[in-house]
Amino acid sequence: MEERLERMRAIVAQAMAECKTMNSERPCKGMDIHLIVYGGIDEAEARVLFESASRGTPAEGAKLVIELVGTRYICWNCCGLRFESSDGVCPNCGEAAIKVPDEIAFALRSVAMV
Ligand SMILES: [Zn+2]
Repeated sequence: MEERLERMRAIVAQAMAECKTMNSERPCKGMDIHLIVYGGIDEAEARVLFESASRGTPAEGAKLVIELVGTRYICWNCCGLRFESSDGVCPNCGEAAIKVPDEIAFALRSVAMV
């Protein structure tokens, strides 16, 4: 749980950095944060983590858009391809890929200013 919170803090920091890059004039208030959740946690848990990780930061109160996708895999057989799948078979080479650990259960997709 603590590791996940650390990871969510890193995502919040990344979101704020992207926001600053897009718009250096305005404070990062009113941003939409689009998060991908790969499984291992549910949407409610992701929201709790985000609230906790963003507290006291400009990202606090941001609108969180959560996209639930299949488990993520990485194929080390061909080219390190990352893909989302239910069976873990690499679409490039057809070999069984390695499942991304559950700690890496979510990632930042995009940030949008409102
Ligand atoms: Zn492959």
